[in-house]
Amino acid sequence: MSIFEDKMIASLADLHLPLLEWYDRCKREMPWRGASDSYFVWVSEIMLQQTRVEAVRAYFLRFTAALPTLQHLARCDEETLLKLWEGLGYYNRVRNMQKAAKIVVEQYGGELPRSYEQLLTLPGIGEYTAGAIASIAYNIPVPCVDGNVLRVLSRITANSADISLPAVKKEYQVLAQNMIPAEIDLPASGGRAGDFNQSLMELGATVCLPNGAPLCDVCPVRTRCAAFLAGNPQDYPVKPAKPARKTVKKTISVLICGDLVLLRKRPDDGLLAGLWEFWNADGWLNRDELTDQLTQQGISVTAVHSLKKAKHIFSHIEWQMQGYLVYTDKPSALEDGEWVKLTELRESYALPGALKAYSKELERWVQQ
Ligand code: SF4
Repeated sequence: MSIFEDKMIASLADLHLPLLEWYDRCKREMPWRGASDSYFVWVSEIMLQQTRVEAVRAYFLRFTAALPTLQHLARCDEETLLKLWEGLGYYNRVRNMQKAAKIVVEQYGGELPRSYEQLLTLPGIGEYTAGAIASIAYNIPVPCVDGNVLRVLSRITANSADISLPAVKKEYQVLAQNMIPAEIDLPASGGRAGDFNQSLMELGATVCLPNGAPLCDVCPVRTRCAAFLAGNPQDYPVKPAKPARKTVKKTISVLICGDLVLLRKRPDDGLLAGLWEFWNADGWLNRDELTDQLTQQGISVTAVHSLKKAKHIFSHIEWQMQGYLVYTDKPSALEDGEWVKLTELRESYALPGALKAYSKELERWVQQ
């Protein structure tokens, strides 16, 4: 049995009218909006899953300037690719994009397939991304239900089912599918499945806000919103509390020898797989403990300066870091380590966002 009554589903059949009217008036301008190039839609959607719209603009422009077509993405070398993704996190997503791009070049003539089902077969493309590409780039009437859409629809329907459950998400997919009326995809109406999906996402991002009170006074569907009419939008969506994040203490050591900096490559799987990092150790080491560890690894320490503390929050873990800048007089070889020029580090090596505070500290010190 559906979590939505038939009469609720029927009552939403014309909700696209106020939504599209509002979307046309109020949507934010973004560099990828209006582009029907499926590659641009794909890049923007993957980036938007990782960070705020405002931050994505610059990343999107940089990425698409360097890799203007799917073919460029398919043949880009990995270091350049990771460097272009630097700061966005979740590097496996861009690696999967490249795997998918290679398949698209080999099997689909270089253009993302115009089929929701075929899109779903590509690495890194799940239901949401397939729905976004299919509807926004190709106007195929399929839904794309992200966290924003779940929130908006749970409030409009005042539905208290737990949205973290896959079966409940599926029901919202079906509801959103039913809300895309066939006629808005007829060529005569300009084909607006993509705009309809984006109107729901945009409403969630700018009006039906996740934290604090939603801006119901300016909402185009407030007279149709069950939670607003009942006076309790903040009670939706219902989802279980997140488990507390694990905290991990780390010591980050930026090792310098003249104009060289020591980088290490992380393992090919696990957190921040395959990225470069500064020398680091678990726990908070004091200067003596740090010097001992480095000496044991064959590094002759000539000076140690404390850097500021920093933290980085991953989805399930939080790094609490203390840092040091360590000078050495010879670039000793280290397992998995590489001494690189500072200029090369800036231009060619992708460091994870988790270490951004220490990249900045390094820059601050070398400019002193
Ligand atoms: Fe969200 Fe309020 Fe609009 Fe309902 S009326 S969809 S709660 S912003």
